[in-house]
Amino acid sequence: MASRICLLLLVAFLAGAFAGDVIEVNKSQREFDYFALSLQWPGTYCRGTRHCCSKNACCRGSDAPTQFTIHGLWPDYNDGSWPSCCYRSDFNEKEISTLMDGLEKYWPSLSCGSPSSCNGGKGSFWGHEWEKHGTCSSPVFHDEYNYFLTTLNIYLKYNVTDVLYQAGYVASNSEKYPLGGIVTAIQNAFHITPEVVCKKGAIDEIRICFYKDFKPRDCVGSKELTSRKSCPQYVSLPEYTPLDGEAMVLKMPTEREGL
Ligand code: 5GP
Ligand code: 5GP
Repeated sequence: MASRICLLLLVAFLAGAFAGDVIEVNKSQREFDYFALSLQWPGTYCRGTRHCCSKNACCRGSDAPTQFTIHGLWPDYNDGSWPSCCYRSDFNEKEISTLMDGLEKYWPSLSCGSPSSCNGGKGSFWGHEWEKHGTCSSPVFHDEYNYFLTTLNIYLKYNVTDVLYQAGYVASNSEKYPLGGIVTAIQNAFHITPEVVCKKGAIDEIRICFYKDFKPRDCVGSKELTSRKSCPQYVSLPEYTPLDGEAMVLKMPTEREGL
């Protein structure tokens, strides 16, 4: 009997371990050291869009975002690692319903994919960010509402798109800009060094970092000044190009269109 129970437990364990894209909840992680506000550039992200759906902001046509949007507010450690999925807190969109306008505009998903939640289900981009990163932001945040509200507020206060625009770095499909110039523009504006992530020579993300009281500080990744996570010396900041007719054929109707 005992060996049968052991066998059942083993099967249950293996089923859990191989259930797919499960991000495990880890309660034993120590308190984080600082926050990274990770911003994504739609012009680069949306280049990878192959089909459309109503939740994907790349598919909003002329209303698609033309400025950096939020990827997430991530608690990080000073040694370059980070905690994730710190406790079980199933995302509840109702808790942030009053923030929807701001979230749709500044923190939209740029993908049709449904990311996995910490306990193995599939959910929204916001749910993924809350469960994976937000739950590790204690003791600064203990609930979704404050996590999303504060993230929106610091995003609006530290306007990276505007800083680059003022320095002459505007979206372009022909120009290349010196990476050093882009970093300097942010250093001059916020007195900190950001982390820059590139994809195929284009800026993919810019991360600006904060102490727990939201005073700006250098990101740990910004120390790798020469490598800067795959960025060449001259980088592009691509313009968003709406999908062509063929790809739009696969577009799912939005709620309004469906009426
Ligand atoms: P990637 O491998 O594409 O750089 O990152 C995949 C995911 O790992 C990110 O979306 C994010 O959830 C997590 N991640 C990557 N870099 C960092 C980081 O510096 N800090 C934190 N907290 N998470 C990160
Ligand atoms: P991370 O890389 O943050 O751990 O995971 C992001 C997850 O959310 C991935 O599964 C990705 O497919 C999904 N996702 C949905 N919308 C977005 C988006 O706008 N940006 C990024 N980076 N990932 C998104």
